[in-house]
Amino acid sequence: MNRRVLVLYTGGTIGMVSSGGSYVPGAAFGDRLTRHLGTPLEALPHFDVIELDQLIDSANLSPTHWHTMAEVLIRNWERYDGFVLLHGTDTMAYTASALSYILKGANKPVILTGSQIPLEQPRTDAVDNVTTSLMLAARPEISEVCVCFRGKLIRGNRSRKLKTSELDAFDSPNAPLLGRAAIHLELRHDLLLPAGQPDFQLPDFEHAGVASLVLYPGISAAVVESILAIPELKGLVLQSYGAGNAPDADADLIKALEQGINRGITVINVSQCPFGQISQTAYASGAALARIGVVSGADLTPEAAFAKLHFLLATGYSGASLRRELQRPRQGDLSVQPH
Ligand code: ASP
Repeated sequence: MNRRVLVLYTGGTIGMVSSGGSYVPGAAFGDRLTRHLGTPLEALPHFDVIELDQLIDSANLSPTHWHTMAEVLIRNWERYDGFVLLHGTDTMAYTASALSYILKGANKPVILTGSQIPLEQPRTDAVDNVTTSLMLAARPEISEVCVCFRGKLIRGNRSRKLKTSELDAFDSPNAPLLGRAAIHLELRHDLLLPAGQPDFQLPDFEHAGVASLVLYPGISAAVVESILAIPELKGLVLQSYGAGNAPDADADLIKALEQGINRGITVINVSQCPFGQISQTAYASGAALARIGVVSGADLTPEAAFAKLHFLLATGYSGASLRRELQRPRQGDLSVQPH
């Protein structure tokens, strides 16, 4: 096998070591990985490992890190046949979504993985996740950003971390898996995105430009007003109930949202339910959002909606063009018509 894969280690549990009683990211991951892989190296594609200067627990990630990671991938794009990004699991779905938008027209696989148990701990899931990811990163049929975890191959912008303590932490609630690693590696060729023409866009993200607000029983207009009053805010991901419903009986709350939208803040509606889609026409409580100009996020995940809003704002969209682009499928992130 003569394909070449670049592994970029960014931090996360996979490479963590114990320090003062808690886990922190540990360096020199390449040597540690080779010592622990177990699989004969001839069975794997040739791989080089590089790591970020500052390794992070992905809970500390901000959109600036998307830029840093994408920059490394783009700089090395022509030199390798595929990429594996080792990342903390906490915000992996956000990074996978952001990279899918940045690397538009990808013609090679970019596989994000990590682990729930560190590499050097008993019963680690790191070896299996990395081995499978390396093999997938050598497959020329894959031309997109994916998450590979516990044998599941998931489109990056459809991935979600749904379990905190199971090894099977990730899933693809609103889209079928792109592949499975069982005895054989099985790919859903009918679902994989075709190889594109690289049309990468690497913008500078404004880290305070987008916020996320989860509705809860009793939420007040004051909470909505205060988030919409953040001076840098340009976009808000509203995580509503069920099929896209908000407390429309609270006229002050709806008015606070409307005033924010009228001041130019774009609000996109996604569901707190992991499965299913937004329908702002199903209930009066959803129709109130449609009436004031909230954009339906259809079956976008909250992570993809957040990354998409950031990406579109950072690449210059605003107003009506931003609302239109949010609802247009990109890299397979949506499968239903938003309404
Ligand atoms: N806190 C860790 C991180 O996201 C968790 C993990 O990697 O599983 O970096």
